[in-house]
Amino acid sequence: MNDYDVIVVGSGVGGTAVGALLANKSLNTLLIEKNEIIGGRCSTYEKNGFKVDVGVHSFARADKGPLGKILEMIDMEGAINWSIVGQGESQWHYKGGFHGFPEDLRKFLPKEDLLKLLSLINQVSKLKDTSKLDEIDVKSWLTQYTTNSLIHRYFYLISGLYFVIPYHHVSAGEFIRCLTSLNKYQRVGYPEGGCISIPLAYIEGIKKRGGKILTNTTANKIIVEDEKVKGIELDNGEFISSDIVISNAGVKDTVNRLIGRDYFKKEFLQKIDNLSYSLSAITLKLALKKSLTPYKMVISFGSENVEEYYSQMSKGKVPDEIDYFIPVPSNYHTSMAPKEKQLLTAGTMLPRENFEKNKKKWIENSFSTLEKVFPGLSENLLWYDITTPEDIDIMYGKESSVVGIAQTNEQSGINRPSVSLPIKDLYMVGGDAGGWGIGTELAAMSALECSNIIIKEKLVKK
Ligand SMILES: Cc1cc2nc3c(=O)[nH]c(=O)nc-3n(C[C@H](O)[C@H](O)[C@H](O)COP(=O)(O)OP(=O)(O)OC[C@H]3O[C@@H](n4cnc5c(N)ncnc54)[C@H](O)[C@@H]3O)c2cc1C
Repeated sequence: MNDYDVIVVGSGVGGTAVGALLANKSLNTLLIEKNEIIGGRCSTYEKNGFKVDVGVHSFARADKGPLGKILEMIDMEGAINWSIVGQGESQWHYKGGFHGFPEDLRKFLPKEDLLKLLSLINQVSKLKDTSKLDEIDVKSWLTQYTTNSLIHRYFYLISGLYFVIPYHHVSAGEFIRCLTSLNKYQRVGYPEGGCISIPLAYIEGIKKRGGKILTNTTANKIIVEDEKVKGIELDNGEFISSDIVISNAGVKDTVNRLIGRDYFKKEFLQKIDNLSYSLSAITLKLALKKSLTPYKMVISFGSENVEEYYSQMSKGKVPDEIDYFIPVPSNYHTSMAPKEKQLLTAGTMLPRENFEKNKKKWIENSFSTLEKVFPGLSENLLWYDITTPEDIDIMYGKESSVVGIAQTNEQSGINRPSVSLPIKDLYMVGGDAGGWGIGTELAAMSALECSNIIIKEKLVKK
């Protein structure tokens, strides 16, 4: 008899969600996390009365998407208090002003281009099968309909926001699946208590069913014998046995280090070696003396020229005016900041390479960009924190990526790495395997996919 039915390595959204789903099916579950705080990239800490996210988060479909569905499935519907972005609460900052989307696009687009864009969005939202579009990237697909530079800039920004890779690398199929589901539900939200509330709710689900959580506990090895998983070895040498092991630690680290390359066939290893991660990000968390904006979410951009913006970044240069995604957590829930103060978070994608060398310039240009969006920012700044690509790598691994395995043509739809690894009873979960969606949505979909397979294989057979 093994110590556990299931061991989950890692407490990201994917790990905690799959743990909760399986514990809910009465599987004796242990979840371990190497850090002191749970949640992986979806985590929050407290500083001077502010609740600060590690990253910069807003949640696609919120309670109506997979994050909410998982709570329903474990009988914890309502465990999260979501604040939803309402009409006019999300704005684009462009050419020195705030604008709504899509209603204000008419101010900037010739009528003919605006009609083309609206008809394109209408057409794709009716598509039943998006799989064919997994073979083409967003830029090439869009160019078939329009070459308008502002529309291209818009699709570049959305691709960066959803998938953290430039639009000429994103699968058009994945883009359309996400855009369509967001349009259908018209729902973006943020949980009370910060983004950690999501993995915390799933952890509650595990505990409620008798499962166990160990933080500050690192898996050193996943033990395999006779092509079947046997359990894990901790970094203190302790062995814990289990019928099933699910890794949330990232597909490359799981295969190359936690299990070891000797256990896999050459063709499989080649596939793993060829997988690429999403880009990284710099995120600023800005604690302000007073409120500078009424909005819940702002997306700002300067240059309209996609090629110019991207080529600067890929050559290791820092754009003068940086694209910024700026959720304002204290406008979602006042409890995120002390009374009358405001918390702004701002994130932008960038390649990990060259960042350290240009760190000072990135910070300088970030502040000058954000000052343009929110005049008075510097004089109202109490303090700020920054999370860099290096911080993400040290804390959570996965080559500093924001999302996980990038949603390119080669890695989306049927080409997505599978949640089942070619060793009996060994699975992957999170942004590195299975699913579709935006960030945490992708990780949650992966958990649903993984738990469905396990439930079918283990419980239905019983
Ligand atoms: C800056 C930034 C902004 C983002 N913005 C958004 C957003 O607005 N909306 C959105 O939906 N998503 C966003 N995301 C993405 C989202 O946070 C991630 O996609 C999601 O949280 C990844 O979950 P995961 O299940 O893959 O696990 P991860 O978050 O990668 O967690 C894996 C966990 O496993 C642990 N671990 C690894 N190895 C071991 C080991 N050997 N032993 C024990 N534990 C181990 C790690 O410490 C970590 O806690 C953002 C991410 C970042 C970084």
